[in-house]
Amino acid sequence: MAEGKGAVVQIARRGLMLVISSPSGAGKSTIARTLMERDRQIGMSVSVTTRQRRQSEIEGVHYHFASQREFERMRDSDSLLEWAEVHGNFYGTPREPVELAMSEGRDMLFDIDWQGAQQLQDKMKADVVSIFILPPTMAELQSRLHRRAEDTEEVIQTRLANSRSEIGHWREYDYVIVNDDLQTAFDAVQSIVKAERLRRDRRHGLFDFVSTLVESDGR
Ligand code: 5GP
Repeated sequence: MAEGKGAVVQIARRGLMLVISSPSGAGKSTIARTLMERDRQIGMSVSVTTRQRRQSEIEGVHYHFASQREFERMRDSDSLLEWAEVHGNFYGTPREPVELAMSEGRDMLFDIDWQGAQQLQDKMKADVVSIFILPPTMAELQSRLHRRAEDTEEVIQTRLANSRSEIGHWREYDYVIVNDDLQTAFDAVQSIVKAERLRRDRRHGLFDFVSTLVESDGR
């Protein structure tokens, strides 16, 4: 990672696992997408799901769409780092791309629910930074779900009914953001990422840098 004036000083650090959760419709996916567009240092984890593909979704970009059988095969062969049933469908994070990114010191973003966040926090500990996004009101959440207009009324009602229990997990996250203004919420996420990248315990290259610094004779 480049730092300092002129971005000359490179200090190696561990990759960051940025987990973002929220009830459906709180703006999490928009925030995640914007972060991906603006921050070239971060890659998105593409989940596997048994949910039906929405019209706007692309295989391999938004999700890997799988049958129940395929999903179970991946889960049972330990190819998923975490998995959960959400709104009656199965979702999971493929293990390999994450382990590769971490070993190469690259950051990754996870748009997953509280069950997945808990599993990653248990397994990956200090590499995980978790953010929970809250809607400003339940009425706003409902209207955002309707505005998206890609789900049936029945699906929207299931998601709304589940949102209260999802919100109940807010205390398990490192950071909580209320998304009443998208730009402000996005700025907050960016600030968190920026600060977390600078944490001393993440930057294993600091030891060599400081040793060289204090041993130099000032020239
Ligand atoms: P959607 O069907 O709206 O794309 O996603 C429904 C919920 O499943 C969202 O809360 C999303 O964050 C969550 N989700 C998506 N992928 C995964 C995953 O790989 N693991 C877990 N645990 N949750 C996921």
